[in-house]
Parts: sequence; C-alpha cells; structure tokens
Amino acid sequence: MSTLIKTDIAIVGAGIAGICSAVSAAREGCKVVLIESFSYVGGLATGGMVSPFMKHEVRGKSLVEGIFKELKDRIRADGGLIDNGFSADVFRDTATIMLSEAGVDLYLNSKLIEVERDTTKIKELTVIKENVTIKIQAEQFIDTSGDAVLAFLSDAPYEISDEQQAMTLFFKMKNIDLKNAIDYVKNNPDDFFPWSTKAYDPAHIASVAGYYSFIKKAQAQGSLSDAVQYIFFSTLPEPGTASFNCVNLLGFDGTKAKDLEDAYLEGRTQIADIVKILKNIPGFVKARLAKIADRVGVRETRRVIGDYVMTADDIRQGRKFKDAIAKACYGIDIHGQKEDESIMEELPEGEYYEIPKQTLFVKSVLNLQAAGRCISSTREGQAALRIMPTCAATGEAAGKIAAKAINTNKTIREV
Ligand SMILES: Cc1cc2nc3c(=O)[nH]c(=O)nc-3n(C[C@H](O)[C@H](O)[C@H](O)COP(=O)(O)OP(=O)(O)OC[C@H]3O[C@@H](n4cnc5c(N)ncnc54)[C@H](O)[C@@H]3O)c2cc1C
Repeated sequence: MSTLIKTDIAIVGAGIAGICSAVSAAREGCKVVLIESFSYVGGLATGGMVSPFMKHEVRGKSLVEGIFKELKDRIRADGGLIDNGFSADVFRDTATIMLSEAGVDLYLNSKLIEVERDTTKIKELTVIKENVTIKIQAEQFIDTSGDAVLAFLSDAPYEISDEQQAMTLFFKMKNIDLKNAIDYVKNNPDDFFPWSTKAYDPAHIASVAGYYSFIKKAQAQGSLSDAVQYIFFSTLPEPGTASFNCVNLLGFDGTKAKDLEDAYLEGRTQIADIVKILKNIPGFVKARLAKIADRVGVRETRRVIGDYVMTADDIRQGRKFKDAIAKACYGIDIHGQKEDESIMEELPEGEYYEIPKQTLFVKSVLNLQAAGRCISSTREGQAALRIMPTCAATGEAAGKIAAKAINTNKTIREV
C-alpha cells in the first residue's frame, strides 16, 4: 500500500533544526511536511537528553533570537528552564505544540528510505511508516537529519571524517544534595576542571566536571572503563536533578546501525559503573538514576558540501559575511578518540562569527538545503556550529528561505 502526498516543503529530521525550520516555513504560509523516524520531536535535545543550550550570548545579549528565543521563553514559562539548562520533556511538549500551532504536517515514526531526483532537483521522497509506504512530493527540501541522510540518498556531495568524534550516552540523576555536592567541589578544587561551579545557588545552573581521583581509583580497580575521563554534570530545572555528559564511547561510526546499538549497550555499562562511583561521592549518597537517554549522542557524521563550506578559520577569525543568516560565538569543540586529539577553543570574550546563506545550499541540487548538525562545514567548522542554538538558527533560516522561494516563485539562491 502506498500513499501520495503533495506539499510545498518537505523537511527530514525533527531535531531542534528541523523544528525551527518547519515552524518558520509554515508561518510564512507554506504547506510543510516534517518527517521524523522516532515517535517524538526534538532529536538529541529530547531523546538524547542533551542540556544545556551552549553559549550563544555576547556581552549579555543573545545572538540567536527568533523561534529559538520563543521556544526558550515558552519552556521557561512552563518551569522547564533554569539559565540555559532545560527539561527534555518540557522541550518536547512545547515544540510539539509550536509545530501544531504553525500547522506543520508532522509525520512521526516515519523514516526516509529513498529519494527520486533528476539531474538538478529532488522530485519525491519515499518514507516508510510502519508497513505503509508514503511518497512525498515537494517544491523545496530541507535536510535537518543530523546525518545528512536526505543529501546522502540524493547523491549530493558530502564529507565524513575517517575518525568521528567520541559519542556519549546522557543520563539523569535525581535526589542529589546539590549544596553538599558543590561544597565538596569548593573544598577540593584540584579534583575538578577550574571552571566548575563552586558556590551553590538554586536559582542558577551548576556545572561540574572532574572527580579525577574517584575515576582513577575505579579504573585501577578495574571497575570502570579506561575511556571515561571525568564525571561531568549540569543541573536541570527540577530541584535535585542533573544531566550527566561523561560516558565516552570510542571507535563507533554514527552512520552504522550496529555501531549505534553497540555504543548504546556500552554506554549503559559505563553508566552503571559511574552510578556506583557516585554512591561514594558527597552529595550523591542518596541520589538515584532517574533516566538514560533513548539514543546515543552522536556529535559528528556526514557534513554536506554546500555553496560555501564553513571552516575553522571562519570561526577563529570571527568572520562576518554580507549574506549572513546566523551569528554564533561557540568555539571549536572536538571530543577526540584519544585525549590528546580533543580540542576546546573559546573565542575572545565579546567576539562572534557569522554563517552565510550560501552555507545552506547543497551543491548540485537546486531545491535542497541542509541545516543543523550536518551543515556544510569542515570537521573543525562543524565542531563549533553543531550546538543547539546555532542548529536552531540555521534551521529557521533554511525554512524561511524555502518559504520565500515558493512565495515569490524564485530559486533558493535568488531569494
Ligand atoms: C554528547 C553530546 C553533547 C552535546 N552537548 C551539547 C550541549 O551541551 N549544548 C548544546 O547546545 N549542544 C550540545 N550538543 C550538540 C547538539 O545537541 C546537537 O548537535 C543538536 O541537537 C543537533 O540538532 P539537529 O536538529 O541538527 O539534529 P538531531 O537532534 O540529531 O535531529 C535529527 C533528527 O533527524 C531524524 N532522522 C535521522 N535520519 C532520519 C531518517 N532517515 N528519516 C527520518 N528522520 C530521520 C533523527 O531521528 C533526529 O530526530 C551535544 C551533542 C552531543 C552528541
């Protein structure tokens, strides 16, 4: 059985980039179909349990406004945001409502499996939803799949590094005595990254990374994988809870289903071992594991090749462009396969860079844009652009450009 759907714009992937893309295009009056293989929206921001929204402010002013700001404001109004730390559940519910209010046709549990195109344009997508095949025809297409699946299946040019960044499986703990935990950090600074929070304030997010001595001891006893380098948590809006970003999954390829399964299982083992270690750490004695993310956090897979490719130099020089569609200030952040392959660079305080419109246009396909994690960039460029606020900004811009192209009968490059 197969169904045919005709729409103005088809977007693949309902992570933060796809959500912002779909809402912006639908608000311009276009018919928008948003296709997502999981049963809910949000991608890594919800199913991956990634939090907080990484740095997007310069001198106290946000570089990303628009739909991202609206999403943040509505999550905050529902009690789901503290500084930039957010509840995955409130994010998911808020984004679902915003998509529905905008009139986006959301296809959940729907996986893109095939693309039909001619020499210049994409014509039709084939999506499988349970046992039903759905054919989707559109004027404009946007790839926000994180893995550039739409570009890949369209035979559009892309790059993938021989060695991808390490993956992480997020988890959440509850019943943490945060005052006690932060006091311990304050009294043992040598055991932590210097930027770790050292004064407990329930009104603000706390971020702590380290506990090296506990990690070393567990590894010496053979009760923790040598891949784990530190314990890193950031608090969440619900009192006594925090999300943990410290599982370290090495040697996996995020485009291979078997690797993702194996990484997920190894991640669960590392979490069980880290939770055992936490039992002996001040502030965590009564803490409990609340939830494990239902998908592995993949930082890097395919990057499309667009009319412009964002480079490390663009980031480091704080480059500005005449046709900028987004601003960002996050530096290059690579979680390497080995400790000495990791990079964490920060832009000088107050500096930012811009992302030009041409970055969104996928080479050789006239009606395809890519935004979010798979945006046109070098490996180092992507390592800066991949954070959620920037994905939201590039996603929103792609949606708006696609809608304008339709509403003015132009190509995306003419808009
Ligand atoms: C471990 C880790 C820690 C991070 N920490 C932070 C942080 O602290 N702060 C921050 O701001 N950012 C952080 N990031 C980066 C950020 O979370 C992601 O890069 C960002 O959320 C990606 O958004 P996206 O919309 O581009 O892609 P995704 O969120 O990956 O969404 C893509 C969607 O496409 C769907 N999809 C894929 N293939 C198909 C298909 N064939 N058919 C249909 N649907 C498909 C997927 O199911 C998914 O829902 C982190 C990332 C990781 C992995």
